[in-house]
Amino acid sequence: MRPVKKSQKLDNVCYEIRGPALTRARQMEEDGQRVIKLNIGNLAVFGFEPPEEVVHDVIHNLPAAGGYVDSKGLFSARKAVMHYCQQKQIHGVTLEDIYIGNGVSELILMSMNALLNNGDEVLVPAPDYPLWTAAVSLSGGTARHYRCDEQNGWLPDLDDIRAKITDNTRAIVVINPNNPTGALYPDDLLKEILEIARQHQLIVYADEIYDKTLYDGARHTSIASLAEDVFCVTFGGLSKNHRACGYRSGWMILSGDKRHAGDYIDGLNIVASMRLCANVPGQFAIQTALGGYQSIDELVAPSGRLTRQRDLAWEMLTAIPGVSCVKPKGALYLFPRLDPKLYPIADDQQFILELLEEEKVLVVQGTGFNWPQPDHLRVVFLPHIDELEDALLRITRFLDHYRKR
Ligand code: PLP
Repeated sequence: MRPVKKSQKLDNVCYEIRGPALTRARQMEEDGQRVIKLNIGNLAVFGFEPPEEVVHDVIHNLPAAGGYVDSKGLFSARKAVMHYCQQKQIHGVTLEDIYIGNGVSELILMSMNALLNNGDEVLVPAPDYPLWTAAVSLSGGTARHYRCDEQNGWLPDLDDIRAKITDNTRAIVVINPNNPTGALYPDDLLKEILEIARQHQLIVYADEIYDKTLYDGARHTSIASLAEDVFCVTFGGLSKNHRACGYRSGWMILSGDKRHAGDYIDGLNIVASMRLCANVPGQFAIQTALGGYQSIDELVAPSGRLTRQRDLAWEMLTAIPGVSCVKPKGALYLFPRLDPKLYPIADDQQFILELLEEEKVLVVQGTGFNWPQPDHLRVVFLPHIDELEDALLRITRFLDHYRKR
């Protein structure tokens, strides 16, 4: 029989967060070894449970969740997202502009599938949450990476954005708060990005899934709230702020000037109907999760569990010779840099495999986030503080040995 080959559409697609190192970690676990996994932002496995009332609500509604619902989502869920838009001052949004999906992941894929033709380009940050690059590639487009500047707190480099625009550029992706860097963008910068979008007629895709996971009292502005005249597509969901990633529940909001987007919106509706609807039990969680008290606030308070873990991880990493790291203002990750003079890493995938073998700690290599040089790692700071400290001591020991090789 002819070899069965994967589609060439996958040639430029990588998703290293669940890449070969995770496969190796699982093998090691099957062999009875204990691996500390700092590779994925899965809150539930580290004892961060979804809010009790949300779980209760899903259980309560389960008997009514056995059928397909509207492709765009349950009325109650979309109504709750509309209220959320009012809080975030995203104006002019009706129920018809809100789509509920199986997590933001599905909606990212749908939004790119419905938009791109071969040769179309999308501006995507480097580093990025790699699903964005993958979704652009799978949809036949080309991701053009614009640089986020580590020297400037990982804020997007506006000149680089401008330099990467061509006649084929259709859209710009803004991930704020950012995964993997933890950067939170100031309003002035968001306005400048909007000005570029305005000038070049770009759609703004705003991934704001961490908009309530903010430290040090920081506030988040939705880019869509700053521009009623730019077509924006904003993404959010229950996975992070509400610790319910297993519910696979997210939303996508169309806002701004939609007058010229009718054909694209038809496309989105086709793509949404093709998968019938999103997981219904997960949709039932949205209204309760978004209403009233937001329990994430406790976790990100100055003495909250997430803040303490972020601080410990940042302090321990930056105490290692040759390791620097911008302190995250949001999200669940650190993206430290390893000075190439002390750590001349040729292949960062190999490097993290060595760390895994030697110290039984799993992180993700920076190039997995479309960062061009093999000189960064992404470290999740979710384990309980004692386990986190243990993991960071192991990373410290590994890097000490590496420098002395
Ligand atoms: N966007 C960003 C920036 C993320 O970090 C993640 C998950 O880690 C997602 C989207 C996907 O989220 P979901 O669980 O809603 O599919």
